[in-house]
Amino acid sequence: MSLLQIAEPQQSTKPHAHRYALGIDLGTTRSIVAVVRSGKASVIDAPETEDTLLPSVVYYGATSNTTPDSPVVGQQALQHLRDDPSNTIVSAKRFMGRSSDDIKFSHPYQLSGQQGEMPAFVTAQGHISPVQVSADILKTLAQRASQALPEDSIEGVVITVPAYFDEAQRQATKDAAKVAGLKVLRLLNEPTAAAVAYGLDASKQKDDDKSHLYLIYDLGGGTFDVSILKMTAGVFEVVATGGNSALGGDDIDRLIANWLLQQAGADPKKIRNEDKSYLAQQAKAYKQQLSDTDDITVNVEITQDNQTLHWQGKLTSTLLQEIIQPVTRRTIRVCEQVLRDAKLTKADLDEVILVGGSTRMPIIQHIVADFFDKQPLCHLNPDEVVALGAAQTAQQLISNHNNDHVLLLDVTPLSLGLETMGGLVEVLIPRNTPIPVTKRQVFTTYQDGQTGMVIHVVQGERETVENCRSLGRFELYGIPPMKAGLARIEVTFSIDANGQLTVSAEETTTNTKSQIAITPSYGLSDEQKEQLLMAGFEYAEADKQARSLIETKVEAEREILALQSAMQEFATLLNEQDQNALKQAIDSLQQAISSDDLANIEQAQASLKPLSDEFAARIMDQSIQQTMSGTKATDW
Ligand code: ADP
Ligand code: MG
Repeated sequence: MSLLQIAEPQQSTKPHAHRYALGIDLGTTRSIVAVVRSGKASVIDAPETEDTLLPSVVYYGATSNTTPDSPVVGQQALQHLRDDPSNTIVSAKRFMGRSSDDIKFSHPYQLSGQQGEMPAFVTAQGHISPVQVSADILKTLAQRASQALPEDSIEGVVITVPAYFDEAQRQATKDAAKVAGLKVLRLLNEPTAAAVAYGLDASKQKDDDKSHLYLIYDLGGGTFDVSILKMTAGVFEVVATGGNSALGGDDIDRLIANWLLQQAGADPKKIRNEDKSYLAQQAKAYKQQLSDTDDITVNVEITQDNQTLHWQGKLTSTLLQEIIQPVTRRTIRVCEQVLRDAKLTKADLDEVILVGGSTRMPIIQHIVADFFDKQPLCHLNPDEVVALGAAQTAQQLISNHNNDHVLLLDVTPLSLGLETMGGLVEVLIPRNTPIPVTKRQVFTTYQDGQTGMVIHVVQGERETVENCRSLGRFELYGIPPMKAGLARIEVTFSIDANGQLTVSAEETTTNTKSQIAITPSYGLSDEQKEQLLMAGFEYAEADKQARSLIETKVEAEREILALQSAMQEFATLLNEQDQNALKQAIDSLQQAISSDDLANIEQAQASLKPLSDEFAARIMDQSIQQTMSGTKATDW
């Protein structure tokens, strides 16, 4: 009999063996892995080259004598981008959890697969899914880590994803980790990870009961993310997120390149593609120089109509600020929207944190400082912050001591709800709700004797189903036949810490149950998501009117159904004249319903009401008489 318990059941049986957990920033263009050692987070480099950044590129060419277990990943794969682009997969992240319909951006790949499914890349090594590509990148990072750490000491990983990733994209990321043989402790939003790296943990503010609010502004090469974090009494929570996956440093480069073209007097339509990409490279270099100095001399040499156009001039910070305004303005608009979502003002924020390579630009730092009226934090390496924060979170998740009580919560990017009568959306979980979350709502049947019900799960900000995105549907069977409105169908929406949604429905009087885990094979593109969000704002008033029309119609139809069923059941209570009067009033109401005119419907309802009230009174009278014979309802 043992008196001393030396290890908790779920912990290592070797109490002195140190356990590690990795933080992985699985980026569109580059990926990084970090780990906490001796209490400090640091990135792990490649032993041979000491590179910390791994280009998110995998080569599946015919000439490579690799086995599927060791494809060429990273810098070496990048070298094939020129000679064999169709077998060199870059930006696989943009394909994760997307269907062929969602993939509207241009790319050099031949895709295979059914419509509505996540397509695969057709390569010399066969059909390779985006999940496989991500898995190969993850495997390479994990190998780096296992070389740097004691054997078998890696307990699991935290992988970061853009805040805007939806259920399908998150699921694809988890699948990739599984294929790579990694245990996912959690998926974490990239901006959240950055905030952790900046040490905004609860532990630093332990004695403080006040809430602290932080805004993270993350402008990278091709993406922009904003999130607002709130910390109260040791609980760290993301209260709102927003962003744009097609906004970043690349757009800044394009604006500068265009400006250079204009200065040289060139026509952008007549420029050769090689010149365009060269110009973009040049623009990027100029931009980065202007992060360290106030003005530079720039040169353009462009071939157009077999003629060489030459221009040399000055580019100053002030001019650059003007050129890139379309980008900076858009980022500020996103910030405003996220503040609105969080029902906060700029003055409520305790800190603003800058993340992402593009925030190295003094112009961006100034614009952010100006807008928020405060100096933003920007002292950490913007390439590493996300991985470092992920590593810290990973360590927290496996550590035994819960001194910190730090809870990291994410939020739902779009509202989740289900379809109700008339094609309306009933929202169960509004957007920006912190997760994990469980919400329940009771619904009922619409028709007498209804034994089945379709639960249609949708995502979006509009009031009507046709303007939202369908996530999936399932049926609840075996509802015992009852009068309309008597069955109690409890629908539960549940989102776990990884953003996985499960919807279940139960008829509570009989415990009939049905459920689905929403893992659609494709996801929403960020563009669509932005559209859904913007539409929600734009159409709010029109939607309200549309909603009240639909609600009135549904209500009127329900009345008619109930009346017709009662007219059959209690036919003896109506003489022919009553019958005809009711039928006529029902007819007019039906006509009004099909006219789609709210006033008409309400008028027809008003005319029907006295007749149906009278009928209801008779039914009541009769049933009371039946139970208490000899007593009249009017005696009560
Ligand atoms: P992503 O996460 O989207 O891959 P990063 O956060 O790594 O992007 O940022 C890459 C972007 O940062 C590129 O557009 C690059 O030009 C820009 N960048 C990097 N260094 C600087 C700098 N010193 N000044 C201005 N922009 C920079
Ligand atoms: Mg980034």
